[in-house]
Parts: sequence; structure tokens; C-alpha cells
Amino acid sequence: QAKEHRTGVEVYAHERDPYSPRRLAMMNDLRGAIEAAALDVHYQPLVDLLTGGIRGLEALVRWEHPRHGPISPDEFIPLAEQTGLILPLTEAVLRAALQQCRAWHARNARVVMAVNVSARSLLDVDFPDLVERLLHESRMPAEVLTLEITETAMLLDSLRTKEILERLSGMGVKLAIDDFGTGFSSLARLKNLPVDELKIDRSFVSNMMVNADDRAIVQSTIDLGRNLGLLVVAEGVEDEETMRRLATLGCHVGQGYWFSRPLAAADLERWFRHTGA
Ligand code: C2E
Ligand code: CA
Ligand code: CA
Ligand code: CA
Repeated sequence: QAKEHRTGVEVYAHERDPYSPRRLAMMNDLRGAIEAAALDVHYQPLVDLLTGGIRGLEALVRWEHPRHGPISPDEFIPLAEQTGLILPLTEAVLRAALQQCRAWHARNARVVMAVNVSARSLLDVDFPDLVERLLHESRMPAEVLTLEITETAMLLDSLRTKEILERLSGMGVKLAIDDFGTGFSSLARLKNLPVDELKIDRSFVSNMMVNADDRAIVQSTIDLGRNLGLLVVAEGVEDEETMRRLATLGCHVGQGYWFSRPLAAADLERWFRHTGA
């Protein structure tokens, strides 16, 4: 036991040390991948629980390291945030997602596109200008874009965040609170932000059929969102039973492996045809 514990601490310390050789090498490789436009973007459908139709897609960045293979965004996004690479990464994903969105619109698939924005990118004073420029570049109206921002990021630097969110919202961009329920935020503070959508965190949704507490959290979040006039999205829908229950509880949109994993654009088009969506 003691030995296992010690090992755990060592792994943790290694992961956290910003100057460990692995991290320094990864940082350089990531910078190279961003500059060479070698990151991929996969897309996961957001499905309307009432009609079964696709409402939109979430863009999720993918990095296939030439030697280490695929690396999880949960590993390299924090790295990018600590090293100033996050804004160029956000720009690359936004650009790719908007261009893909335009390509689908041109073929009459009028999907909306959700893109994740980390705290550091959001708090950059130039971020709203960047979004405006990329919308212009892709010739897409702001209404097709939803920015997903974690509950914690929304509340980091409240005055500045509020100002930036208001600018984005004023442009017509939609704003979603990502991982809702994990941040212990006060509703009084969230209420003052121009939010359009709540995404219930996967940790509550995946257990809701077996855990009554999780079910209660999901149910009250749906009620809360609906009462505030927000679109409510559940992440991590992995089976039919969960999907049906969410629909019964009044959740608007579902996302998860039950519908589809995140897929490359070409594979997703095959899936569109397959499901007739
Ligand atoms: P997230 O924003 O909460 O995204 C949802 C994550 O859940 C994705 O993991 C997705 O593949 C996964 N997922 C979707 N449906 C299911 C399901 O039914 N079951 C399970 N077990 N998982 C499901 P992914 O792609 O590995 O991304 C992890 C996190 O990395 C994201 O969490 C997001 O916080 C971050 N991330 C991903 N792409 C980007 C990006 O372009 N920019 C930023 N800033 N962050 C990103
Ligand atoms: Ca997200
Ligand atoms: Ca989540
Ligand atoms: Ca997340």
C-alpha cells in the first residue's frame, strides 16, 4: 500500500513538473504541430432529444504525435494553457471548425458549431477580435457559433470575463457553460452573464441511471436551465435508457457515444447518410 501510494505521488509530481524533459519535448512538438497546422479536429453530433435530428456539432481537437501516437486533449490542453500556446491552438481549431461549418452549409446541412474555449484564451483582450476576424474570414454569421466555456473559467476574473462575454454575445455568438455542476458556482454570479446554454457534465449523466444523487442533480439542472430560458445539453449519453430518461426530464439536447463518437468530417458525413439525418 505504502509503495503504491509513493508511486502515485511520483507520477503526480512528474506530470505536474512544468520542466520535466517529457513536458519540454511535448511543448516543442505541440508548438511545431500548431505551426504546421498538423492538429486535427473531430466533430461530435449534438442531437435534439425531441426530434432525433442533429442540431449541431462540437469540435474537439486531436493530436497524433509522430512517435507517441494520439495524445489526449486532457493532457495537451493544460500544457498549451501553461505555455502560451493556447491562443494559437484555439485559433487553429476555430478556423478549421468554421471552415468545415461553411462547407456543410454550402451543402445544405445547416448545423451550428460549438468550439471549446479555455480560460486563458477567453481572458485575452484580443479574443473577441479574433472571433470576429475568423467569422469574417469564413463568411459565416455569428449565430452558427457557440463557444463552450467551463463554469470555472466563466467566473475566474469576473469583471473582465463579463465584459468579454458581453462583447461576444453582442456579436451574436452563443455562449454555453461547459461541465456545468462541477464548479460549485453561485447562481447569483452566473445569472448576470449572457449565457444561452447549459451543458450538464458527463460525470452526472453517465451514472444517472444507477445513482439517485446524480439523477437528482441532472433533474434539477434541467429544471434550472429551462426556468432560466436556457438550452440544456447533456454530455456523456452512452445508452438508450439514459437518452430516454433525459428526454422525459425535459432535456433539449444529448451528446455522447450512444449517438456517435467524435469523428473526422468525412466519417461523420458517412454517419449522416447512414442515419438519414
Ligand atoms: P469536454 O469539452 O467536456 O468534451 C467532451 C469530452 O467527452 C470529449 O473528450 C468527448 O470525446 C468525450 N465524450 C463524448 N461523449 C462521450 C461519452 O458518451 N462517454 C465518454 N466517456 N466520453 C464522451 P475529448 O475529446 O478527449 O476532450 C477532453 C476535453 O479536452 C474536453 O472536454 C475539453 O475540455 C478539452 N478540449 C477538447 N478539444 C478542445 C479544444 O479544441 N480547445 C480546448 N480549449 N479544449 C478542448
Ligand atoms: Ca465542451
Ligand atoms: Ca465535460
Ligand atoms: Ca472539460
